[in-house]
Amino acid sequence: DTILLDIKGLKTYFDIGKGRYAKAVDDVSFSIYKGETVALVGESGSGKSITSLSIMRLIPSPPGKILEGSILLEGKELLTLSEDDMSEVRGNDIGMIFQEPMTSLDPVFTIGSQIVESIMRHRKIKKSLAYELATDLLKVVGFARADKVIKEYPHQLSGGMRQRVMIAIAMSCNPKLLIADEPTTALDVTVQAQILTLMMEMKNKLDSSILLITHDLGVVAEVASRVLVMYGGQIVEEAFVEDLFLRPKHPYTTALLKTIPNIDLDLDRLESIPGTVPPAHLFPKGCRFASRCESVMQICHEVNPDLINIDSTHKVRCHLYEEQGVNMCD
Ligand code: SF4
Ligand code: MG
Repeated sequence: DTILLDIKGLKTYFDIGKGRYAKAVDDVSFSIYKGETVALVGESGSGKSITSLSIMRLIPSPPGKILEGSILLEGKELLTLSEDDMSEVRGNDIGMIFQEPMTSLDPVFTIGSQIVESIMRHRKIKKSLAYELATDLLKVVGFARADKVIKEYPHQLSGGMRQRVMIAIAMSCNPKLLIADEPTTALDVTVQAQILTLMMEMKNKLDSSILLITHDLGVVAEVASRVLVMYGGQIVEEAFVEDLFLRPKHPYTTALLKTIPNIDLDLDRLESIPGTVPPAHLFPKGCRFASRCESVMQICHEVNPDLINIDSTHKVRCHLYEEQGVNMCD
């Protein structure tokens, strides 16, 4: 397997004044292989979106700053690229889909002109040809009347239709990596399923990889092959999707799994995790989940655990586990 994106030791902090920092992303490392769909899950405030904005180098600065780390895309370091080169990468190599497409689409331009602009930013072709390509793309993302939609404005479309347009725009640059941050959260359940299917079709067609950011483990089960669970600015568990659902290790993952709505269950019995994610400027010195953990021990208040391997594909950050399979011979 070839690594597409390789992140090591990423730290993105926000200066909150008086020499204090919010450690939004605090020593995050993970890889995404070519053709893979990786989900980054966690509650809101856990650092998921700041991780994706760091990859895109779209952290508002000040007060945000990427302090340390490395982000390699096909071996190319993104953190040292010039702003011009980075904006090339953003349009060409990495596509983005956000939760609310209304904020990424410009309300005063037609759908067609926005797709055409995106195509022409990266390909030197005639406008008429770009317009034809835009029509084709709208058909690919499921608009039967692409010729009509292309002349419409964002407010004339439903949320689901706007998200299709965003996928068309993302596709127009043939991205190697698609970052989708809560792409279906604002949509109703039926439309959610259609948009996820469309994203997966696009991924397969373009042979790209997806980093899917979501708080919804139901969505994860649907599309991801590997899962990263984030809490308090750190990865606390990493596993293949089946392993994570069947053999969760971290108490936070176990708690998250209990929050998945299940039609077999009484709605009254649906649990939510008591307490809240500590704000990123008030992390305790020990485990960041300690205040909410049912298995908390004395050491948890003193030492923040490392992310360790419990087998070759499963990692966890928790004092309940010990590193396995370490080769002592080297
Ligand atoms: Fe719970 Fe301790 Fe594990 Fe943290 S390190 S998740 S507090 S058992
Ligand atoms: Mg978010």
